[in-house]
Amino acid sequence: MFKKVLIANRSEIALRIIRACKELGVATVAVHSEADSESLHVRFADEAVCIGPAASAESYLDPRRIIAAAEITGADAIHPGYGFLAENAEFAEMCLDSGIKFIGPTPDMIRQMGNKAKAKELMINAGVPVVPGSEGVLSNSDEGLKLAEEIGYPVILKAVSGGGGRGMRIVNNSEEFEMNYQMAQAEAQGAFGDPDMYLEKYILNPRHIEIQLMADQYGNAVYLGERECSIQRRHQKLLEESPSSVVDENLRRKMGAVSVEGALKIGYEGAGTIEFLLDSDHNFYFMEMNTRIQVEHPVTEMVSNQDLLKDQIRVAAGEKLGYTQENIRLEGHAIECRINAEDGERNFMPSPGEIKSFNVPGGPGIRVDTHAYGHYHIPPYYDSLVAKLITYGKTREEALARMNRALDEFIIEGIKTTIPFHKKLIAHPDFISGNFDTGFLDRVDLTK
Ligand code: ADP
Repeated sequence: MFKKVLIANRSEIALRIIRACKELGVATVAVHSEADSESLHVRFADEAVCIGPAASAESYLDPRRIIAAAEITGADAIHPGYGFLAENAEFAEMCLDSGIKFIGPTPDMIRQMGNKAKAKELMINAGVPVVPGSEGVLSNSDEGLKLAEEIGYPVILKAVSGGGGRGMRIVNNSEEFEMNYQMAQAEAQGAFGDPDMYLEKYILNPRHIEIQLMADQYGNAVYLGERECSIQRRHQKLLEESPSSVVDENLRRKMGAVSVEGALKIGYEGAGTIEFLLDSDHNFYFMEMNTRIQVEHPVTEMVSNQDLLKDQIRVAAGEKLGYTQENIRLEGHAIECRINAEDGERNFMPSPGEIKSFNVPGGPGIRVDTHAYGHYHIPPYYDSLVAKLITYGKTREEALARMNRALDEFIIEGIKTTIPFHKKLIAHPDFISGNFDTGFLDRVDLTK
């Protein structure tokens, strides 16, 4: 096992990693920007190093500062969390070169999965069904147009290096194609420094269903059920749950088996997620693989009774998985609401500032992952996630009832949050009946 893990991240995920390390008996090092010295991850880590000013580019996104902090403190591993450098192959490579274990898959694996066109190619070869579309990168808009005519509109243009729901454009007919192609390329160049595009059939009213995987270095891999992530705003997830009300035992086994097989064929190791689109006929298509722990991992932890962070750290340290598919029992239902410092009534405008009072819900079936507390100042420089509220119940109904009362108990004063939005969302008849898809929030207006 590692002796000391440096956490190259902030906020609730840094705290989550510290908790896992403590339970494993591993020492922790927090890094933080000047804007984050009052953050809880700094307080709860065994050591903390200030790595630079508030701007992420000069702190959390600067590989050299992070490696230097690891060397100074004698950390033998780095956990990247999610976001920031979590899927940065160069960073993983630098860790390797410095003799520090990057907790995640190999730099090559990250590189391949980070290129969405390449990832699709690998998955096709591994026998995983993918959305019909271009074989790799489009060489120009004419090639894209021709292919779009072949597979039929609507299609979606996606940036090869895209992420976080950005760099995607839906094209409804041939007249719109050229303009959308140019705009998508310009956007991708601006956001990711890479104008390469690929094209896919745009699946109408799909569900976003993802499979959680865990694999060790010895060819053992399991799936831990699915997560339903169709509640999205601008392709960004707001609420996740497990299981999905449209995935039955049969489909789960099918999606799980395909995912495990895919992961084993490419030699994947660590925690990973395969994201699928599920159409109304229950066909599923690979979209992308995330080579990190995800924001929404707690819903899987609740229903599988597995600690994904500890497992991820253990397998990175070279331990065997220690359990097989038969040992995984999925039980009950879990829901996660992302509580963001955003004004749900004003177009989700960020609302940083001082939290005047903070009351965390409790009681049966409640889990709150947060780095915030009363009088904490939410800095304006980073993403707006303040807390993840996760509820568990024997049934979806019970988990929902708990979410409803937990949202009432969750008092965050001084800033605007998405708590009122979630209250309305979980009261919507279509949400309650499980009748929704990724377009749900485009169709119903919950902001009023
Ligand atoms: P990112 O990496 O930016 O999150 P994804 O490829 O995971 O991008 O897609 C994000 C979301 O965009 C999906 O959850 C889905 O709602 C939508 N989407 C992506 N590809 C398609 C497609 N081919 N058809 C329909 N919706 C899509």
